[in-house]
Amino acid sequence: MSIKRQKVEELLGYDKFNVDEQNPHIVLDPEICAKCKTEPCLMVCPAGLYRKKEDNKIVFDYAGCLECGTCRVVCRDYGNKGIVKWVYPNGTFGVHFRYG
Ligand code: SF4
Ligand code: SF4
Repeated sequence: MSIKRQKVEELLGYDKFNVDEQNPHIVLDPEICAKCKTEPCLMVCPAGLYRKKEDNKIVFDYAGCLECGTCRVVCRDYGNKGIVKWVYPNGTFGVHFRYG
């Protein structure tokens, strides 16, 4: 029996998201992010939710968040502090396994 290794994009397809449009569970302060020298969030998010625009501003969309907490660790614990809110989504909101 062989095991097929799946790409990250395929694995993310097993997830679905119930997004709380009124209450983002992660919030950035753009003024703090503009001063961030290392921007580790761009490299660590497994869902690729942090991006840099052509004007060098960091943009972020919490809608596809896997709730792993990696961005919180690399941002806050390494002194960057641009993430001013990081909590788990309320109630039934957030990431769910599509088949169970
Ligand atoms: S918690 Fe994980 S998936 Fe969500 S934005 Fe942070 S690094 Fe990305
Ligand atoms: S690491 Fe934190 S402060 Fe730096 S760009 Fe990312 S979210 Fe902003």
